[in-house]
Formats: sequence, structure tokens, C-alpha cells
Amino acid sequence: MRVLVMLDGTHADADHPHIRVDDLGLMRGDGVFETVLVVDGQPRELGPHLDRLARSAAMLNLPAPDLAAWERVSQAVIDRWTGSGEFALKLVYTRGPEFGDGSPTAFALGMTIGPKTFTHREGGVAALTLDRGFDPSIVERAPWLLLGAKTLSYALNMAALRYAEAHGADEAIFIASDGSVLEGPTASIVLVEGDTMRTTPPTIGILPGTTQAALFRAAERSGWTTRTEPIHRDELKGAEGLFLVSSVRKVTRVHTLDGVELPDSVKLHTELSALYESEYP
Ligand code: PLP
Repeated sequence: MRVLVMLDGTHADADHPHIRVDDLGLMRGDGVFETVLVVDGQPRELGPHLDRLARSAAMLNLPAPDLAAWERVSQAVIDRWTGSGEFALKLVYTRGPEFGDGSPTAFALGMTIGPKTFTHREGGVAALTLDRGFDPSIVERAPWLLLGAKTLSYALNMAALRYAEAHGADEAIFIASDGSVLEGPTASIVLVEGDTMRTTPPTIGILPGTTQAALFRAAERSGWTTRTEPIHRDELKGAEGLFLVSSVRKVTRVHTLDGVELPDSVKLHTELSALYESEYP
């Protein structure tokens, strides 16, 4: 099922075309997006998602998004949704048609979550570490690389997932050229050792994850120590638990890395999932 509402509040048929062929989002991936999880009519972390949309838009010099309008359009999709209790709400904001009046293209699209996501949430995933080809020191020096912006240019991320799948895995974990762990193509990384949860810092050129932030909030309330700091690739295999977290996949455990089985983290996964869900009573 899909529900489409344009930012101006117009409901549109998701089975019909609405984007012009010269839309720069389509022609060049020149735009930004967010994917929000909606559960039983409640959008999770909508505020942080909209803040990140605004940050990404600023990095691309797009007009500052009207966040109140994005909240309204999100609610309009939620109000019209008649499908299953959980769905993905995609917010898309592009530079608009190349030969238009300069107005951006902006819409919200509710979509059913595919079965693979549920299988991965339940059973975990095998992941491959893949070179991302940049050194974290480039982030400050080269803002045009848009590292840390959630742009529509996800062809590279999708290619990494296809590469992983072609090599017997389900997921990828990007590694910087200095050996730093970055993130997954569509997920943040969380590593567990004892009572400490660690994730990698946005300053190295990755997205600040809204799910990771929610999980860490809950973890801190429950007495865990949380650390956001560089993690080296050599630390991944020794960890008690390695997880990929994102809005739609929630907390997914990595059971195999580069073909090597990791320590059993089924119990940890149950614990982290419960912590994450406790943010949404
Ligand atoms: N990193 C990347 C590259 C992503 O695409 C995503 C989400 O799609 C994330 C991290 C996790 O972000 P969030 O938890 O806000 O969904």
C-alpha cells in the first residue's frame, strides 16, 4: 500500500506520475530525504528526522524546509493510512524541475515495509565490511562531498548492498581508508561490550542516526554507559554484540561478519530491542 501527499497538502494517487522528467532530484539525485517509522499512527523521532532534513537541505543550499508544513504533510499521510500498523513514511525534498519556476519538489509517501526487513529484524544479518574510499579528515576540507547529508544520491549505497548480496551477505558496513568504521548503507552501527554501547561519530562523515540516539537515550536511563567515538575495523569481530540500527529495521543484530560467525548476541538483541521500544510506550 502507498499513500502520497504533496507538501501543499494535495493528496495524489501514488500509482500515477507526478514528477517532471527534468526534476533535478531525478536527473541528478539533487535533493534530500528522510524515512520515518510510523507505528500505530505514531511517527517515531519525527522531530529529529525533520531536524536532519533541514541540516541536509542546508548542506545542499536548498531553501530551508518549512518544518511545520512537513509535520502537517506527515500527519496527512498517517491519517489516510489504512494498511498495517507499521509503515515507512518517506519525506522527499528535491531542487525541483530544471526548467521550472525554481520551486522545490516536496512530498510525503507512506509505504508498506517489505518482508525482508521483518526477517532481518528477527533473525539478524550477515554483513560484509566494504571500503568507502575516503579518509575522515576529508569531511571538513571538502564540504561538497556532502558527507553526512542524507541526499537522494543513494546509488552508491544500493550498489554496496547489491555487492554484499552477490557475495553471500545481507548487509554492508562501510570502512574509511584509515580503518575507521563508518556506518551501513542505510544504518548506524552499534557495538556492545559489557555495559557499554558505542557508536561512531557524525564528524567522520556519517549520518547522525535518530534510532541510535533513541536507543542510547533509553540505555542511559537504564544505567548503560554510551560512547560516541571512533571505532576501528579490528574491534568489530571481538565485540559481544554488533548491531545495525535504523528507523525501519529498528535494532538488527549482525550474526556473521566477513564470513566469520560472531559471538551469539540473541539475548543482547532482545535486551536492546526492549530498550529501544521503551522509548515509545
Ligand atoms: N546511516 C545511513 C547512511 C542511513 O541511510 C540511515 C537511515 O536510513 C541511517 C544511518 C540510520 O538513520 P535513522 O536511524 O535515523 O533511520
